[in-house]
Amino acid sequence: MAGHIDNRSIDHGGAMVELRVNDGRLDLDAYSPDATLEDLRAAVEAARSDPMLITAFCAGCGRCCYHEQLPLFGYDLIAMRERTGDADLGEYVVFPPAPSLAERSAAVEDLMRQHGFDRITATLLFEYNAADPITYRKSNSGSCAFLQNGFCTNYSRRAYTCSLYVCAMGDRLASLQERIVRQGVWHSYSVEGWIAESEIAHNPFASATSYRDVLIAGFDDDLSDALEKLFFFF
Ligand code: SF4
Ligand code: SF4
Repeated sequence: MAGHIDNRSIDHGGAMVELRVNDGRLDLDAYSPDATLEDLRAAVEAARSDPMLITAFCAGCGRCCYHEQLPLFGYDLIAMRERTGDADLGEYVVFPPAPSLAERSAAVEDLMRQHGFDRITATLLFEYNAADPITYRKSNSGSCAFLQNGFCTNYSRRAYTCSLYVCAMGDRLASLQERIVRQGVWHSYSVEGWIAESEIAHNPFASATSYRDVLIAGFDDDLSDALEKLFFFF
C-alpha cells in the first residue's frame, strides 16, 4: 500500500514538504531547502487523517499521551513561562538534572582524540546519546497531566513534539524526528541557563526564534559514517 500526500502548508511561504504513506506508515519524501519545522508540523497535521495510515483517522485516541514522554523544547518553555510565570511552571513540567558540562566536555574531547572526529561531529554524537528531556508532568493515572477524559486540555498550546508525533512513522520521518528531538532538548537546556548558547552554536534552534525560522535541512546531518566507525571500535 503506498500513497502520496501533497504538502498543504501553503500558508507558510510556499515551502514544500512532501509526505507519503508506505505500508501504512507516514514517511518523509522530500522537502524544499526553505521548509521549516512549522511546515513539517503542518504537513504531519494535515496527513493525520489519511485513510491509508495504520492509525487512520487519528483524532486523538490519547495512547501516546499515556505511553510517550514527549519532550518540551526551548520555545515551548519560553511560551509556557509567558503564560504561567516561572513559579507555576513546575506544576506542569518535570525537569531532569542539569547536564554536567565537565562530563560533556571530557566526552567530546575523548571522541575527538580516540576516533579522529571533528568537534561538531563529536559534539553531535555526544548530544544524541545524552539528552534527558524536560517533559510534561504525569498525572497519577500515568498520562500527561493535560489529558482529561481522553481529551488534551492544552491542545492549542501543546508542545511541538505533541503535534509532530504520529505512532506509525516510516524510517526517514522517525529518524528526522529523533534528530530534531535531541537538538530540541539541548536547546531547552540552554533556555534553562544550563549551558551557554555559544556551546550549542551548531544547534539549528539556537540561531532562530520560533519553529517558523528553523530549517528542516539543519537536522539532516548524516552521522552514519561516524556511527559505523564507533560500531567497529566497540
Ligand atoms: S498518534 Fe497518538 S492519538 Fe494518534 S492514533 Fe497514534 S497513539 Fe492515538
Ligand atoms: S499536552 Fe496534550 S497532546 Fe501533548 S502529551 Fe499532553 S495531553 Fe497529549
